[in-house]
Amino acid sequence: MESLKLLNDYTKLPAKFFSQQMPNPVLNPKFIIFNNSLAEAMGLPMMTQDEWLELLSGNQVLKGSMPISQAYAGHQFGNFTMLGDGRAVLLGEFLTSSQELFDIQLKGSGRTPYSRGGDGRATVSAMLREYLISEAMHNLGIPTTRSLAVVNSGEKVQREMEYNGGILTRIAKSHLRVGTFEYAYQYGTMEDQKALTSYAISRHYPELENAKNQALELLKKISEVQADLIVDWMRVGFIHGVMNTDNMSIAGETIDYGPCAFMNSYDPNTVFSSIDTQGRYAYRNQPRIAQWNLSRLAIALLDQLHTDQNLAIEMAQDIINSFPSQYESKWLNMMRNKLGWEGNQSGDQNLIEDLLHMMHKYKADYTNTFLGIADRENYDSPLLDSMEFQEWSMLWMSRATMDGRDLDQTILKMKGYNPVFIPRNHMVETALMRASQSSEFGQFDELLKVIRDPYQNKEQYTAYRIPPENGDLGYQTFCG
Ligand code: AMP
Ligand code: MG
Ligand code: MG
Repeated sequence: MESLKLLNDYTKLPAKFFSQQMPNPVLNPKFIIFNNSLAEAMGLPMMTQDEWLELLSGNQVLKGSMPISQAYAGHQFGNFTMLGDGRAVLLGEFLTSSQELFDIQLKGSGRTPYSRGGDGRATVSAMLREYLISEAMHNLGIPTTRSLAVVNSGEKVQREMEYNGGILTRIAKSHLRVGTFEYAYQYGTMEDQKALTSYAISRHYPELENAKNQALELLKKISEVQADLIVDWMRVGFIHGVMNTDNMSIAGETIDYGPCAFMNSYDPNTVFSSIDTQGRYAYRNQPRIAQWNLSRLAIALLDQLHTDQNLAIEMAQDIINSFPSQYESKWLNMMRNKLGWEGNQSGDQNLIEDLLHMMHKYKADYTNTFLGIADRENYDSPLLDSMEFQEWSMLWMSRATMDGRDLDQTILKMKGYNPVFIPRNHMVETALMRASQSSEFGQFDELLKVIRDPYQNKEQYTAYRIPPENGDLGYQTFCG
């Protein structure tokens, strides 16, 4: 039997960046779900189910491997804190045949030196939620960490009630975060900071290896990939919910699926997270928060940017200040794509804003409105039926068919940018409740099937296109 081989690449970093940490064994582990297509795509070895279970429950580690928990810090809701993997263990990194390196991390695997008051555990429900939403994001074409498996630990975890304990196996390009750089800056030497910069570059942006000013180029690059990522979130109505700097990946992947959710009815102020009482991480604030997080990264890189502090600040500010215009132009292009338009016209932004304004006013479903623009026959809503929309629609059409372009082409293009199926909150909640409380997986499995092919309309899944009746009024998410 071929067995899994893992590297300990992260341990190249100075010792203060991690602690050796074995996962804590659990009583009676059972697989809930295993992501065969991901395992295949990565080229993971074919081990027996029992071998995988031993490994992914944390009950056994591979011979010669050195599991660690990573140290990091971060700004949580604006406040700086020392953090670290409080309930996660990096088993090691897997090198694919195409030389891509992936972290294999257990989440919910027990206490670590960074657990603070926490129990190091997670609920089955929260881990299935991460599995489902990360799978949705991946299939929507959005960079994200992935989920290889969820194991039921056979133990109970105490939250406001007792729940079944779960362990998720997370696959990520890395778990380097903005918060890792903040940690290096706050608690490390100049050497530690430089070691982290060159590690991040060699792992994710090797094209920057010969740059004169590595820290500067890295900051630019991360601003770019984060602008792309947030635009993609906005495209599908994704609200991350807890964009703390420790949850912002250096690799540009969506990471840490806690209180995230998809917006149904369009309202830029939408917030679902129960702990986000000020709306800091509301839908519309995501680009601004990304910029704020990047400014924390810039501060953490300041000493590496230039020996002259004033010059370093100026360089950092240039990049941070250019983020909004960079984001805006990417956002505008994304919206043009959603509307099926080619090229740039000066009136585009106004037309887009008019549409969003109407969507807000009519509390229209974000996803279905774009589908309805392209396909009036199959979608109906008070907005789509309104006079103001009809008028807008004429303008949309003449913009789309400018220079004699075919409307069919427009509509074909829209299909690539506008998902038919997103994980609707009410569907997610019932599926998770049935799966985690009564081990009924029918709904969960079907929902998973639906979100795995989000751009293809399928008649038999019409129910999954329907927004909740009350438009998510009062819907709240929690950190599991
Ligand atoms: P998050 O809000 O999910 O990014 O988590 C913030 C920090 O809290 C991270 O360092 C987590 O590892 C830690 N954490 C979250 N839940 C637990 C838990 N149950 N036990 C220990 N640490 C936790
Ligand atoms: Mg986190
Ligand atoms: Mg979390």
